[in-house]
Amino acid sequence: MTSVDVVVVGGGIGGLANALALSRKGLRVRVLERAREFGEVGAGLQIAPNCTRILDHWGLLDEIVSLGVLPEHIVMKDALDGSVLTRLDLHDVERRYGFPYVVIHRSDLHGTLLRACREAGVDLVTSVTVTGYEQAAGGAVAVHEGGREFGRVVIAADGLHSVARRLLSDDEPVSSAYVAYRGAVPFHEVSGLDVHPKDVVVYIGPRCHFVQYPLRQGEMFNQVAVFESPKALAGEAEWGTPDELDAAFEHTCAQVRAGLPLMWRDRWWRMFDRDPIMSWVTGRIALTGDAAHPPLQYLAQGAVMAIEDAWVLSEHAGGNGDWDAVLAAYDAVRPEHCRRVVTTARAWGNLWHHDGDQRLWRNDVLRGRDVHDYTYVDWLFGPTALTPEQEPPMFPGAGAIVS
Ligand code: FAD
Repeated sequence: MTSVDVVVVGGGIGGLANALALSRKGLRVRVLERAREFGEVGAGLQIAPNCTRILDHWGLLDEIVSLGVLPEHIVMKDALDGSVLTRLDLHDVERRYGFPYVVIHRSDLHGTLLRACREAGVDLVTSVTVTGYEQAAGGAVAVHEGGREFGRVVIAADGLHSVARRLLSDDEPVSSAYVAYRGAVPFHEVSGLDVHPKDVVVYIGPRCHFVQYPLRQGEMFNQVAVFESPKALAGEAEWGTPDELDAAFEHTCAQVRAGLPLMWRDRWWRMFDRDPIMSWVTGRIALTGDAAHPPLQYLAQGAVMAIEDAWVLSEHAGGNGDWDAVLAAYDAVRPEHCRRVVTTARAWGNLWHHDGDQRLWRNDVLRGRDVHDYTYVDWLFGPTALTPEQEPPMFPGAGAIVS
């Protein structure tokens, strides 16, 4: 194979975003993906303005919008009584942040990035499983069964169970004991149900929640049912099974129960994250995406953060041949931002799943929120910071965090 500047390990959304961003800066990039074909399993993804801003910068936003849906609101409801707790007006969100909130089938986002990578001349290689990494003079090497790939830098986008992460930490994925069932169906299958065809709706309840939103210009409808598995808490190996799904949602409101028969019941996703680590770079090897910062999905920022990583790294790399300086600049800003997202996602999820008095208190607080108050999303949806000084405070008056 011809030599390249950058080797990217993993061709998920994170790997392809990095490959595209770096090739747009004139670098020669090769992606090594272990699967036989590039692709994404799953259903919908929400992508917030901090991501659509970047997709617009890459010239992909029109295509993304044409493939997805621009929902009107995010509505949060109580899963037991179905009452509205709070909402975000997404037209208002677009006016405030300058870019839209989009929901899209994950294979459409992945497909758009893949096509853009092909057009940009990225060398896309499948059926290669990277088993190890080595530093080398002037770069690093990704080692696999068939040989060794040298790049001036190696970007590891190999997901939750990243091999590369072991170079930086001996941590393991953290089980939340929660599991997700998904289901994306043609819209006509839900047209008789009490659903919001133009909104993202999140029903939050004791140890469970249920998400609904339209996909593909409203032709499809996406549902995600998430719950805490008693079998996981009891230490059983087989957890998150369909009988647990049914039991978890038994006491929820009619709108939620009506959607449950449409979930895919033959597969489910156990929810893991990892404790944050504050450096993702060793020598010329850098982590990105879920390899660096797998979150619980409650803030809908996992793929978004991967795309932000790609943008930040490429903005520092553009025109700069000093990879040590580029990686240091990347490592100075991204781990702190993603640490905030990963830890806030855990806390946000806990709040969603309250029971008893805590649920009532939570509902009161959410109902009292001014729907035009963006205090708690400005730090997420605003422009992605390139330096620690640009990182916005999470809370008003807290001041910027400078490491
Ligand atoms: P992955 O998607 O895991 O990709 C890793 C790739 O690397 C894979 O293609 C894999 O085959 C390949 N690979 C792995 N090991 C090797 C190896 N050794 N050699 C070569 N290749 C390898 N995020 C959002 O932004 N918005 C949402 O609304 C949202 N909703 C979610 C809902 C659920 C239920 C879940 C579970 C997650 C959600 N996320 C969401 C998170 C998002 O899906 C992930 O954060 C994102 O897909 C991570 O992308 P990645 O490319 O870093 O990792």
